[in-house]
Amino acid sequence: MMLLALPLVTGRALAEAPLKVVATTGMIADAARQIGGAEVEVKALMGPGVDPHAYRQTRSDIVAMTRADLVLWHGLYLEAQMQEFFHDLTRKRPVVAVAEGLPKDLLRSHDDYADKYDPHVWMSPALWKLVVEEVRAALTTARPQSAELFAANAQAHLAELDRLIAYGTEALARVPENKRILLTAHDAFGYFGRDYGFEVQGIQGISTQSEAGLNRIGELVDLLVARDIKAVFVESSVSDRSVRALIEGAAAQGHAVSIGGELFSDAMGADGSYEGTYLGMLDHNITTIATALGAEIPARGMAGKLSAGL
Ligand code: ZN
Repeated sequence: MMLLALPLVTGRALAEAPLKVVATTGMIADAARQIGGAEVEVKALMGPGVDPHAYRQTRSDIVAMTRADLVLWHGLYLEAQMQEFFHDLTRKRPVVAVAEGLPKDLLRSHDDYADKYDPHVWMSPALWKLVVEEVRAALTTARPQSAELFAANAQAHLAELDRLIAYGTEALARVPENKRILLTAHDAFGYFGRDYGFEVQGIQGISTQSEAGLNRIGELVDLLVARDIKAVFVESSVSDRSVRALIEGAAAQGHAVSIGGELFSDAMGADGSYEGTYLGMLDHNITTIATALGAEIPARGMAGKLSAGL
């Protein structure tokens, strides 16, 4: 009886089994899911709260990647601890670094390395659209018979990203001009600042692997006081220790600063939640930053979908 209940596996059914895709970050995994739909089975190596600058592959990650039909990683030295691993894997599996091919004139330079660029391109939905296009191309190469479906899904997702860009422009323009300073734990928001006209200061540099010195903390405390900045931000994937040191330093000078909220810098929100998608992640960041810095906008974001109290 059990045998009869099993589905009949034909050659055709096998050919249509979902494409096994492994992605490093949640943002890349989300793009693959949006474009691939039911044609893909996507695993993200780095979940909520995981710092990609520090991440090293685990044994189960290696197993998943060696069995995958397609492996997508970010590149631009984001996954700094996994560079060599990916270069080796490229000889064995289809592997694509989805941000590596972005036009270099659109990228910000890297403070610590003359020959490298700021990898945090997902902070600019306009740049992320180019990455989405790379993901579509990689999926299409892996499964050419689904090219039309992938193109249609990509087009729908790109339209959502256009709506996000419009929302961000409108919401952030409501922040009073003299309050457009974004101070965060590490320098992940450079592209965001460039797109929306914000000055960005990170306590740590572009990578979380460099320690912030006391000099840097002192310099930023002076900035908070001099510019009368009232809110700074913590990040879900970085320790809040240095941000708290900054708040204490300002308090010692008689200047009260509060935490404006937790931002998703290098990792998305909880799996299965709206904030656990690229769109929700950016909606959360835009809405949190705009509100904390004095804009009057709806608390639940661009589509009323943000979780209350996050
Ligand atoms: Zn980062």
